[in-house]
Amino acid sequence: MERRIDKLNWRDIKKLKSNTDIAILPVGTLEAHSITSNGTDTVIPEYISEKLASKINALIYPPLHYSITSSLLPYPGTVTLSDETFEALILDIAKSIKKDKFKFLIIMNGHGGNNKSLSTLKKKIFLETGIFVLIIHWWVIGYPICNKIFGKEGGHGGIDETAMISIIDPKQINSEYIEDKDLYNISIDGFESIPSPASTILYSENGGKIDLDGKKCKKYSDELLERIEKIIKDSLEKIGTQFL
Ligand SMILES: [Zn+2]
Repeated sequence: MERRIDKLNWRDIKKLKSNTDIAILPVGTLEAHSITSNGTDTVIPEYISEKLASKINALIYPPLHYSITSSLLPYPGTVTLSDETFEALILDIAKSIKKDKFKFLIIMNGHGGNNKSLSTLKKKIFLETGIFVLIIHWWVIGYPICNKIFGKEGGHGGIDETAMISIIDPKQINSEYIEDKDLYNISIDGFESIPSPASTILYSENGGKIDLDGKKCKKYSDELLERIEKIIKDSLEKIGTQFL
């Protein structure tokens, strides 16, 4: 069953809405990514939202393709919003979601540059609309799964993101670039730059190089989806019991 608001007629939304009070908003960005598309941070949370919507009985708002990027901005095809614009945009969307009487907003975030603003917004949205806000930073939830399956840590454009894109839409990977000698940068505490010296950013020496082993990628994606579903269901149930 279709659950994407932008693909549905308002009459069907009205019918579906009578049976749910949960909205999902995928939030990504447009930013250079290793050997995958610049839309990687949007494609992944959109996919996770579509996979989970029926399991948690939610409707999905169209993803936000633009947000806050910084050290990768000089790379071609990367766009940023100011923090203020991003926060105002999400707050406005939340107010419209409130107008349709949703009680829960799940923000499915695909981009680390948004974390700080989203954390601030969580409280602002609640205070201004009364909506309960759940935020999923999918790759953070995936850290232990990535370590378990690949034996290495994920990163920006690293094993975890590339694994997800290989499952969702392999055409958005260009494996020719995997041999580039400048593919990886390991971030060093006490140093920062714009541009980042490379478009794959590993967060420590234990950051893993891209691994396109199909079985491992599938296992990573499956376990990640299961874990996120469980976290959302448990939280909705507890919050529902206490507040609704
Ligand atoms: Zn990313």
